[in-house]
Amino acid sequence: MDFLTIKLQTASHFSIVFLIKRFKISQIQFSSFFYRSFFYLLHRLNMLFEEDKYRFMHAALKEAEKAFEKDEVPIGAVVVHNGKIIGRGHNQTESLNDATAHAEMIAITSASATLGSKFLDECEIFITAEPCLMCSGAIILSRISKIYFGTFEPKFGAAGSVYDVFGNKNGLEIYSGLMADESRNLLHAFFSKMR
Ligand SMILES: [Zn+2]
Repeated sequence: MDFLTIKLQTASHFSIVFLIKRFKISQIQFSSFFYRSFFYLLHRLNMLFEEDKYRFMHAALKEAEKAFEKDEVPIGAVVVHNGKIIGRGHNQTESLNDATAHAEMIAITSASATLGSKFLDECEIFITAEPCLMCSGAIILSRISKIYFGTFEPKFGAAGSVYDVFGNKNGLEIYSGLMADESRNLLHAFFSKMR
């Protein structure tokens, strides 16, 4: 399958990188229908990412559920280093009365405390939703090397939705769509509960 070339209608969909790695395809040429069907199938089978990525996103979702229980917007995050979770956080803007108490900020602070370092090189962050401008900045400053997020966030998302702050950031890898349905469903459940 090496001769195939990927042609995407949609803008940068980083998840495709996993397809390439997983199936050792250097380039794929799909008709957009075939591409979408294949992508959708892998997505439904939870096969789009490596297995441990689902495990870590599952832990982030557990964090999001904690936020949900406290009537906070249900977003969760975990920071992973050498295959181990070293920081966790969920959105606490209401309970702490602090607009900066986002899941990512709390997970980053907690991971830095665990490692005893302000820099989190070689760490990965798993977030149930696309990070906002503030959290994207914090991720860059903390030198986290990979971001995995679930659902896109059309109001504040800074990884392509409203802003694209990672566009020119070399070396930082971003993957979207990991357990996106689960993350989105939790957010929808929250907003219908609040209505
Ligand atoms: Zn944020």
